[in-house]
Amino acid sequence: MNGKELAKELLWEAPHIAKKAPALKEAAYAFCEDYKEFLDRGKTERECVKEAVRLLCVAGYEQFDKKKPYRPGDKVYWNNRGKALVASTIGSLPLENGVRMNGAHIDSPRLDLKPNPLFEKCEIAYLKPHYYGGIRKYQWGTVPLAMHGVVMRSDKEAVEISIGEADGEPRFCVTDLLPHLASEQNGRKLSEGLKGEELNIFVASLPFYEDEEDDKLKNLVKLMAMKLLNEAYGITEKDFTRAEIEFVPAYRAMDIGLDRSLVGAYGQDDRVCAYTALRAELEAKTPAHTTLTILADKEEIGSVGNTGLNSDFVRHILEELSGNQNADLGLVLQNSICLSSDVNAAYDPTFPAVYEERNSSYINHGCVLTKYTGARGKAGSSDASAETMGKVIALLEAEGVFWQTGELGAVDAGGGGTIAQFVAKLNVDVVDVGVPILSMHAPFELAAKLDIYSAYRAFSAFYK
Ligand code: MN
Ligand code: MN
Repeated sequence: MNGKELAKELLWEAPHIAKKAPALKEAAYAFCEDYKEFLDRGKTERECVKEAVRLLCVAGYEQFDKKKPYRPGDKVYWNNRGKALVASTIGSLPLENGVRMNGAHIDSPRLDLKPNPLFEKCEIAYLKPHYYGGIRKYQWGTVPLAMHGVVMRSDKEAVEISIGEADGEPRFCVTDLLPHLASEQNGRKLSEGLKGEELNIFVASLPFYEDEEDDKLKNLVKLMAMKLLNEAYGITEKDFTRAEIEFVPAYRAMDIGLDRSLVGAYGQDDRVCAYTALRAELEAKTPAHTTLTILADKEEIGSVGNTGLNSDFVRHILEELSGNQNADLGLVLQNSICLSSDVNAAYDPTFPAVYEERNSSYINHGCVLTKYTGARGKAGSSDASAETMGKVIALLEAEGVFWQTGELGAVDAGGGGTIAQFVAKLNVDVVDVGVPILSMHAPFELAAKLDIYSAYRAFSAFYK
């Protein structure tokens, strides 16, 4: 055996998909047309749940009813407060053989409005946000924004708000300084380029004015802004206190690059995994193991709250399912395996210092298995066991899915967490699998179509 043969037998690295399987390109590009549409239809967790429920209902899913007997191939879902969703296809094996869980999150970093947000300063009306999730605040100035959300009016009617997505609708914007006057600001640390209380969202600049009597009133621009919102949605200023309003980038998902190899869009962390997981769920016929596809909220702020995975709602769902299938919940959990489907940081050649080359994920090299996340010695991570890695890799390789491994940056360069630790708390084996992302958490994130398609193929293989 010569060196070349020996190397082929003993050494390994994840190949570039376009070299190894160029024929995948066509299917991947076609798949991403639907993916981009999903991104445009769901820019908040609530909108994602709505769109997912629509797709589930078209595919014959029904809301779970514990009194109904469910048989292999039946399809059900649970809607948690319109902000998190679980869908399942009953498998042919007994439930006690374990379920195949796939959990992605549908919340993304953004600007949330404070409870008392509307104010006027020097004849400009603004809305005041408190940012949600890990954002680099300086990136959010001079970006066209859309307003999304729900308001509970005093008449107890829930009003859905969406301004800035449809063609011809106005958008909103946070201003930044011109370079000519930015010498003081340029000296700030980048993390303070725009400070939290400087993220004021421009909403209007013309006053309400009927006659000179109005000269006696203050804040006429604020009044005009409120009048316009009232005309559109019947809301008053007090209604902001019973609202969840999110400002997100107003642009649509688009192709990036001469070769159109990337998708550029807001919120691909983690809707890229949510969509690919959902597609695999929708297409599951009669899987061996019962599937459980989880689209969770609140991951970006630590999975806290009753729509996040550090809540017992998934446990309760599995309790219901176990009751329905006469299965012991403890056994179900113990025999289950979960993909915590979330994105990882793709190696960025412009910023090599924060990555360790041999243990980074690369665009166009497939879905990324992240054995552990965390920071400072894996703290806050669920470190997948050798056995779990072995099982998942075998599943992927049986279907010829392109995969690679990746760490979230070099040791001590930073870190992060996912839902994996909360799944592990249920006594379920879990590993992070996802898509490498460039510019993660920016208002505009990039992902490679070949990787997106690989994630979809991985999730489909998992649900076979
Ligand atoms: Mn994520
Ligand atoms: Mn994230």
